Amino acid sequence: MTTTHDRSTDEANATDEASEPAASPTSNPTGHSQPGFEVPVGEDPAATCERCGRPFPTTMHRDLHLGEVHVEELTEREHERYEDAVEAETDELFVYHLKVIAALASMYAVLVLVYMVVLSL
Ligand SMILES: [Zn+2]
Repeated sequence: MTTTHDRSTDEANATDEASEPAASPTSNPTGHSQPGFEVPVGEDPAATCERCGRPFPTTMHRDLHLGEVHVEELTEREHERYEDAVEAETDELFVYHLKVIAALASMYAVLVLVYMVVLSL
C-alpha cells in the first residue's frame, strides 16, 4: 500500500521535473537569464517588472510578463491588467492575420493578372 503511494508521488514529482524544463523556454522566449537586461543608451523602459527588475518597452508587455512568469504572486489588480493585456494582444494578432491574408490575396491577384498578360502576348 505504502509502496504504491510512494510510486505515485515519485511519478508526480518526475512529471513536475519533466515539465519544468519544457515550460521555462516558453516563459522566457528571449533566452535572457535574470536580471542582466541591457537597455540601449538613450532609451528608457516604459515599465519595469517590480519582482525581477526586467525592463519592458510597454506596460502591456510588462503585464503579459507578470501573468506568465509571476502568476502565483499576482494581486487582483495585476490579474485584471494581465487579462486586459491578453485581450489586447489577441486583438492585435487578429488584425495582423487579416493584414497577412490581404497581402497574400493581393499578391495572388497580381500574379494571376501578370500570368494572364504574359499568356496573351
Ligand atoms: Zn518579472
